[in-house]
Amino acid sequence: MKLSPNAMSSLTFTPLTGRCSCAALSCTLTAPPLITHICYCTWCQREPGAICAVNSIIESSNFTYHLNPAVSQPLALIPVARP
Ligand SMILES: [Zn+2]
Repeated sequence: MKLSPNAMSSLTFTPLTGRCSCAALSCTLTAPPLITHICYCTWCQREPGAICAVNSIIESSNFTYHLNPAVSQPLALIPVARP
């Protein structure tokens, strides 16, 4: 996903959609994250098996997800707590 320099500004934010690689889960973010950071510590390198991990804190009211019933569901899907 390529973002313009102002893509994360709350005034110019365009909702973002995404999905996992098997298409079982899709999601939409309707407002910019409160915080986004990249960590290069060895623990964060181990979790995704990559050089870094990208983490964002988002308000649950600005996030929705959808499970595609046509795709077999993961065995250990953890539900997201909603207020
Ligand atoms: Zn870390």
